[in-house]
Amino acid sequence: MPELPEVETTRRGISPHLTGQTVQAIVVRQPRLRWPVPPDLPEKLDRQTIRTVERRGKYILIGTNRGTLIVHLGMSGSLRILAPDSPPRKHDHLDFILANGTCLRFHDPRRFGCVVWTEDDPSTHPLLAELGPEPLGECFDAPYLHGKARGRSVSVKSFIMDSRIVVGVGNIYANEALFRAGIDPRRPAGRIALPRYEKLVVSIREVLSEAIEQGGTTLRDFVNETGSPGYFQQTLQIYGRTGELCRRCGELIRTQRLGQRSTYWCPNCQH
Ligand code: ZN
Repeated sequence: MPELPEVETTRRGISPHLTGQTVQAIVVRQPRLRWPVPPDLPEKLDRQTIRTVERRGKYILIGTNRGTLIVHLGMSGSLRILAPDSPPRKHDHLDFILANGTCLRFHDPRRFGCVVWTEDDPSTHPLLAELGPEPLGECFDAPYLHGKARGRSVSVKSFIMDSRIVVGVGNIYANEALFRAGIDPRRPAGRIALPRYEKLVVSIREVLSEAIEQGGTTLRDFVNETGSPGYFQQTLQIYGRTGELCRRCGELIRTQRLGQRSTYWCPNCQH
């Protein structure tokens, strides 16, 4: 599933090809995505010039003077820049054909992604209005997390994966960040002191930034017809290592389901 680093890499990959370009036509092959593609989208976007390509959480926001296209890649979505005469493959649901002769193509086999349109401030759109701060932004810090955690008995792992608390901390990144910070993922969020949240904030920023950096090497995939967008294979310290030994101390890694998500920790390094 595309996580925040993959979405940010997608944004960086497509942005230079879109910014300043004018939309000439839209081809909708399959409007039934997670939410239906608005039937009047071709009309709304007709002759609009793309001003900005931004990201909020895992949403890509393509801004024009008239409004904003909000795109989510769901479980299996991708966006590519192609020549408009590239024959569509199965699951290539939408094409945004640009006046310069290229095309932005949305591909999504499982159709959990979405392409919606708003003419209001996108931050007030129902999909975005409830989102917590960006993990790499200035509003996300230890006093904020510590304050939000006060009195909460939910596990710290489920807490940091809640997009109302902070956006974009997916399961793999939550496991890795908690390992780096030395925090047991099962610990109640409200029973962690401020200095430990300081460590956790640094760890979350690190694992996401490292993944985004790695993603930079896959940028060419966004203008390549055949290559699949590479999801980042970071060296994982803890995630998925059932039955293996901790790289730091040699203890057997523990695993259990927590909030229905696979959870891994070292009982010696994390408490
Ligand atoms: Zn260990």
